Amino acid sequence: MALSRRAVVTGIAGGSVLSAAGRGQAATADASVQNILSAAGAWRQTAAERDMLYRQAFNIARDRIDSALRGRGRQRHGHRPPAVISDIDDTVLSSDTYWARLISAGKQAFDDEMWDAWVRENGPTATPGAVEFTRYAESKGVEIFYVSSRDQGPETQELAIANLRHAGLAYADDAHVNMLRESSDKEPAQQAVAARHHVIAYLGDNLNDFRRRYYVDSVARRKALATEDAEHFGRDFILFPNNTDGHWMRAIFGESEPADTRAYRARMLQAAEGRLN
Ligand SMILES: [Mg+2]
Repeated sequence: MALSRRAVVTGIAGGSVLSAAGRGQAATADASVQNILSAAGAWRQTAAERDMLYRQAFNIARDRIDSALRGRGRQRHGHRPPAVISDIDDTVLSSDTYWARLISAGKQAFDDEMWDAWVRENGPTATPGAVEFTRYAESKGVEIFYVSSRDQGPETQELAIANLRHAGLAYADDAHVNMLRESSDKEPAQQAVAARHHVIAYLGDNLNDFRRRYYVDSVARRKALATEDAEHFGRDFILFPNNTDGHWMRAIFGESEPADTRAYRARMLQAAEGRLN
């Protein structure tokens, strides 16, 4: 089953969809070619623009380090050393291969079992520029603290550190990795770092990686709150792209990882057509 799905998709990628025969093939193909996640997955896999958004974000983060080390921040923030707080998934670790696997399996919504299996096999790779950035910070003596939400049971922390090390990222150790299993509220862990360091940048693909106050259900309210803080973005809030998951999905569906139901697909279409509310 999975093989035939892959074959159909490959045929379309090869251009046969443009021919009459190809259109016929697509019309009779199984549902995977209509997967609601296809466009998002294709962008993840192919867009150089996506990769350069990562590079752009890490360049900004690097500039933050350079300017902090020039002493501008140090004088204003006493003797606390500069540090960076970073999210993990879709910030320094890419989940592209997870989404590719999920879409290839014909699934149209986040799947916990597939995610856990992929984490356990060290599926994540570094996002574009992440290795260079974390190694640069390390070379300058600027610590990076990873605060992230995942839950693979008691092994969560160990697995996350293994993923970070496997991807070649700096600061992949217990002193710098704080995995939250019970809550997605990162502020207490972030504040604990900020008590000892001058946090020069927060890195994340989700507004919740910056401030908890964005954790609201309404699409409009979420946008309004972020806009109030617009001055922070590209400065101390450094944002990475994620078009498949995050709390923007929660604002649409009421939960971050909605199950694949008829209502889910209808609402996704509604959102895409600008017909929410
Ligand atoms: Mg993330």
